[in-house]
Amino acid sequence: EHQTGEEICAFFNNQLVIKMNREAELNGLFEESIQNHDFQIYLQPKIRLENQMLGGAEALVRWIHPERGMIYPSDFIPLFESNGKICTLDIYMFEEVCKLVQRWFKEKKQVIPISVNLSRLHMKNPDFLEEFVAIKEKYQIPDGIIEFEMLESVFFDTQQIILVKKVIQDMHKHGFLCSLDDFGFGYSSLALLNEFDVDTIKLDRQFFADTMNEKSWKIISSLVRLADSLNISVVAEGIETKEQLTCLREIKCGMVQGYIYSKPLSIDVFENWSVNFGK
Ligand code: C2E
Ligand code: CA
Ligand code: CA
Ligand code: CA
Repeated sequence: EHQTGEEICAFFNNQLVIKMNREAELNGLFEESIQNHDFQIYLQPKIRLENQMLGGAEALVRWIHPERGMIYPSDFIPLFESNGKICTLDIYMFEEVCKLVQRWFKEKKQVIPISVNLSRLHMKNPDFLEEFVAIKEKYQIPDGIIEFEMLESVFFDTQQIILVKKVIQDMHKHGFLCSLDDFGFGYSSLALLNEFDVDTIKLDRQFFADTMNEKSWKIISSLVRLADSLNISVVAEGIETKEQLTCLREIKCGMVQGYIYSKPLSIDVFENWSVNFGK
């Protein structure tokens, strides 16, 4: 059926209105959801390949709204990045992680390193780390347990090189580790390793997504060796198949995170999962 220009315009206007209404609605729910703890930590395990042990976990946000159900990051992170709410959310998530780690210590449970995602937006405030340091101290979190994951793209902005270097130094000074997330997609990723003193790189899921051929394994294998020689840990992300796992073992990749072991899990489920893992 033929549509007139006007009808097409009306359609897109409608779509736009729907999108704007939805965004306005999510924005309106934000404050109350923070207060009601509707944002929750989900944990996805990272497995150390050499001994098949739990080596850590990544904290990923889930918005579990009493009326709207589970809302995934892709539905709200871009929105909250566009209006700055992401910084509040990141700090909230970090504090929840600190509470969890403190509880693990109190209950004499196994304490594993946890990584927390940081939006690029924090970089706009050169003193942003102070708030994180204060929270870390409030919950008496020892050094070396919390790692911040920052997207590779944060490091590309040449305007920010000095600032980012300083941030990484400060992170180390205060006992945090620093991880380069979604590594390998920028065109000068390797230069970043020379420029910035990061502790970990996370090889993006896309690396392993294409039908893997010999050439791409050679690239991954040399990245792993390069990182190793620089004393940088490697996490392969988004691993789903046994074949991928076999290859990663062969090239001695440090850690693996992906559905092959587990999806991100609520805290309760994660605690049960980790007790049973390897039994
Ligand atoms: P990310 O940091 O790259 O996190 C990994 C994403 O890949 C997660 O999606 C995870 O559930 C998914 N994933 C893990 N293993 C597999 C796998 O084997 N196969 C597939 N297909 N996917 C896998 P999620 O939880 O939906 O998060 C999406 C993105 O949202 C994250 O990507 C991160 O950039 C952002 N994000 C999540 N939580 C936070 C947060 O608290 N703060 C900030 N600033 N960003 C967050
Ligand atoms: Ca991440
Ligand atoms: Ca990632
Ligand atoms: Ca990603």
